[in-house]
Amino acid sequence: ASTFEGKTLALFGLGGSGIATALALGAGGARVVAWDDNPENVDKAYGEGITTVDLREFDWAGADAFVLSPGVPLTHPHPHWSVDLARAADVPIIGDVELFSLERAARAPDAPLVAITGTNGKSTTTALVSHVLQAAGRDTQMGGNIGRAVMTLDVPAPERHYVVECSSYQIDLAPTLRPSAGVLLNLSPDHLDRHGTMENYAAIKERLVAGSDCAIIGVDDEWCAQIADRLEAKGQQVVRISAAGALDEGYFAQGSALFEAKNGETRPVISLSGIGSLRGRHNAQNALAALAACIQCGLSHEEIQTGFSTFPGLAHRMEQVGRRGHVLFVNDSKATNAEAAAPALSSFERIYWIVGGLPKQGGIESLRPLFPRVAKAYLVGEAAPAFSATLGEATPYEISGTIEAAVANATRDAAEDGAGEVVVLLSPACASFDQFRNFEVRGDAFRNAVLAQPGIQLIGE
Ligand code: ADP
Repeated sequence: ASTFEGKTLALFGLGGSGIATALALGAGGARVVAWDDNPENVDKAYGEGITTVDLREFDWAGADAFVLSPGVPLTHPHPHWSVDLARAADVPIIGDVELFSLERAARAPDAPLVAITGTNGKSTTTALVSHVLQAAGRDTQMGGNIGRAVMTLDVPAPERHYVVECSSYQIDLAPTLRPSAGVLLNLSPDHLDRHGTMENYAAIKERLVAGSDCAIIGVDDEWCAQIADRLEAKGQQVVRISAAGALDEGYFAQGSALFEAKNGETRPVISLSGIGSLRGRHNAQNALAALAACIQCGLSHEEIQTGFSTFPGLAHRMEQVGRRGHVLFVNDSKATNAEAAAPALSSFERIYWIVGGLPKQGGIESLRPLFPRVAKAYLVGEAAPAFSATLGEATPYEISGTIEAAVANATRDAAEDGAGEVVVLLSPACASFDQFRNFEVRGDAFRNAVLAQPGIQLIGE
């Protein structure tokens, strides 16, 4: 039984995480009244404690809370929108992170909870913190906006660590969220579609750190720097991190070292040298946040260094799959457009580049300045003719057709390359739908094709 046993919870939004949440609530003894605009999703909602009722015809007087699934907008053009009906009936509107927060407060209020938000780097930092805790032998549960929905995680227990990625949306609907360590990585005006103004967007993100026992804040942008000052002025514990320059107090990166500045003393505590999955300035920021969060969880510098050194990176995002001699194999299947492929191409000097799929507007034209890094391109999928035209005569390429053929040929060519460290990189700059169900399946196909080559050494397992 859960904290919600005997409660009546209306729930709207029966996509993957909504269904998972409904099932978890029902199994815990709640009465879940669920609905979705899509009849196919409604059909999937069967399980203990779950009934499906069109919430426009629901008697809201009987509801204890209205759970809105991640991504469902608060405002909706159509009349009798459930949010308006719930509001009119004074039913609190909450998200799944709030459910988790209530459950934690009831069962294990001191269970360590690292909550992570920001405009960029959330998933990387969340996966990194979770990996380090796990590597250090801590009972660790990771979820939220990444991986599993929070309500499907193991129930809160005193020694159980939670690492939860929070979107603005989830923070907005989680008024009682009180992380032991809250991380705000950065703020930039990239995702304003849903939140209207930058002020509004920043105010929601600020709430996550304002509610934390310890607020870990990246101060490399003006918005976050001001939030750090404001919270500190209010007497909150603030830990500043910077990947851009030295700090008098906090954690900062210089070269490949992470420094701790504390009580007037500054010393290097972590080396990122040789950790391929944490290359680049943006990853230094993620690593600093993870360092500060793991220290807050009681880990030693040694434990954190060990965890960092074995971090494989996020699946399908510059993920280091394996190595054979001087050849590294990297899966960046998540790069479904040219901008998303740019960081991977910028991170390596000599690249055997597997690229293509269902092309997007503009193709790979914007990546032209990075072509000198490409030793050879292997074109797959529908984009091949267009991309071969863009690559032109200066960049060697072949039309491989499939991921499997591309991997086999790139592996052969890279093995013969005498230039030292080289990389076979899947960074398709395209959607996957011409050949695969989604980018994950494409990345898995790459991984399998790599593992089918003889003599591959796996990374991160
Ligand atoms: P999110 O979960 O916030 O979308 P991810 O960790 O999935 O972020 O990273 C997505 C992309 O954003 C990465 O491939 C990288 O190009 C970029 N990125 C990662 N970390 C940062 C950061 N700290 N600052 C800026 N950009 C970043």
